[in-house]
Amino acid sequence: MMGYHNVDVEKYIGYLKITPELLNNEEYSRRQESYIKLLHELTNNKEFYIDHFSEINIKTLYGERINSVYCFGICFILLHELSHFSLGHLDKDGQSIQDEIDADFDSFWSIYSDISKDEKFSANCGILCALFSLLFLNPTMETDGIHPSEDDRIIAIYDIIKGDTPKYTILLVSLFTYWAKFYNIRDFPKDLQSTEEPIDKIKSFLSNYKKNNIN
Ligand SMILES: [Zn+2]
Repeated sequence: MMGYHNVDVEKYIGYLKITPELLNNEEYSRRQESYIKLLHELTNNKEFYIDHFSEINIKTLYGERINSVYCFGICFILLHELSHFSLGHLDKDGQSIQDEIDADFDSFWSIYSDISKDEKFSANCGILCALFSLLFLNPTMETDGIHPSEDDRIIAIYDIIKGDTPKYTILLVSLFTYWAKFYNIRDFPKDLQSTEEPIDKIKSFLSNYKKNNIN
């Protein structure tokens, strides 16, 4: 427990006890296959059918929780776009990477500074998941010359919130690992522990991965 400063251990253990309950949720298990199918549809097909997504029932325990995370994620994307207006990016010639970095920060802080401590966890999960969805949509991390690379955007937000709770490190390691598995990314680091150290391993892997994809 040495590395877990400022964490209410009892509360954290309580959380871990609740989580399996959620993941072993009957409704989730029953629907898991179709959720994975939806994810494939979203990432692999040129078009997707909104009707398929209406199968998700948000009135279940699982649905309610993913829905609040989802709402914060969408909120982050919309506020990012709004920030381009409020920060005056449209009143000048050309776009720059710094504009995108500023829009991410502006959006993050307008959510983070305006909600209760309890809501922060759902909000931060939503923001990280929204940024991860960009990585799933662009797995080769091909640059558009305007936005910072997907992993840089994820890490920038993670660096702000990582001190709040070690759960964000667990989430980050899991999502990167899932992404690598989903796209069969070769030589992605294996058997990562959910501590700060694997984040550095992932960072150095991704910096090589991006270099190799450019050539
Ligand atoms: Zn933007």
